Amino acid sequence: MIYLDNAATTKPCAECINAVNAAMEQSFGNASSLHKLGTASIEIIARAKKTLLGALSGTKTPLDGNIIFTSGATESNNTALLGVMQKARGKRIVTTAVEHPSVARVLARLEENGFEAVKIAPRDYADFTEALADAVDENTALVSAMAVNNETGFKIDVVRLYENVKRKNPKTLVHIDAVQGFLKVPLAGDLISVSGHKIHSTKGIGALFIKKGINIPPLILGGGQQNNMRSGTEPVELIAGFDAAVRAYRGSEEHFTRLKGYLLEKLAQMNDIAVNSSGNCVPNIVNFSVRGVRSEIMLHSLEENGIYVSSGSACSKGKKSEVLPAFGISDKDIDCAVRVSFCAENTTDDIDVLCDGISKTIERVRR
Ligand code: PMP
Repeated sequence: MIYLDNAATTKPCAECINAVNAAMEQSFGNASSLHKLGTASIEIIARAKKTLLGALSGTKTPLDGNIIFTSGATESNNTALLGVMQKARGKRIVTTAVEHPSVARVLARLEENGFEAVKIAPRDYADFTEALADAVDENTALVSAMAVNNETGFKIDVVRLYENVKRKNPKTLVHIDAVQGFLKVPLAGDLISVSGHKIHSTKGIGALFIKKGINIPPLILGGGQQNNMRSGTEPVELIAGFDAAVRAYRGSEEHFTRLKGYLLEKLAQMNDIAVNSSGNCVPNIVNFSVRGVRSEIMLHSLEENGIYVSSGSACSKGKKSEVLPAFGISDKDIDCAVRVSFCAENTTDDIDVLCDGISKTIERVRR
């Protein structure tokens, strides 16, 4: 099997699996219990928070604030957006036209309830980071932007965005969906969402960073766990796995850059390929269109040879991407878009097999 769909989800690493198993066998106590097993669970959670805070910024300076563990980034995004806007004075939100549905759909609901979401499209601006900050005014309560786009790998300079937004309006809060950016690009923000299963941890675990001094109401009410910010018994096993996966993360920009360079070189030797990931993209995600071969045909043809890629985004499940037009990609090219996304284990041999599969599929379809 050649797995090149790491932006959809990743294979849990051995360190994660071992940590989950160990926690299940030895530390299964309820973190709210007053006995020794409860204390052991509290310690696992505290250690995981420290690991995440250290890893989040991607720079030497750890972020100052709290981590709440969630069921995944969908919940983190819902908690952040609904929480901020519930308390906000202004009704205006600045965002991008390329957000994941777990942000876009929440914003649509807020719009139905009288809020205004200003959506900026990358295709319209040479300096997109600047354009987002420029759109902030005195009524803007929130900026919500993804660090790295899941379909193309397009990245924004989150650190510069944060500084520029605060310069324009210090009261505007900044939420970053960092699901695809975590451990890959430097991060900043008042609220930052991350997901375990994109970095070789399990599904069902995510986190929301909340900067010190920022108070939002919780989304999920109940027994008051996690300082009342997210009720529900903490999944200590998954948290232990998340911690281990972050510490064991092996992806490196150099490796991804080498793989992307190799792939682009090989694609350039084929006819009728359009690369949809521009220069301003992370190297681990490459989106391209094989003109004349519909995405699904390519996907299933590659799958028959044990090669796993994605058409656009896995979350859209065969639906036409709403995001790619905002990058200026034509409808025709969207129909033929393939997304390849790497992890540390991928090699140039994988890319040779992939490109061979693509060439054979093109031959077969065009014959
Ligand atoms: N945001 C982005 C950018 C994503 O790629 C994803 C996962 N496809 C999510 C949010 C949702 O994350 P989760 O699967 O953890 O709910």
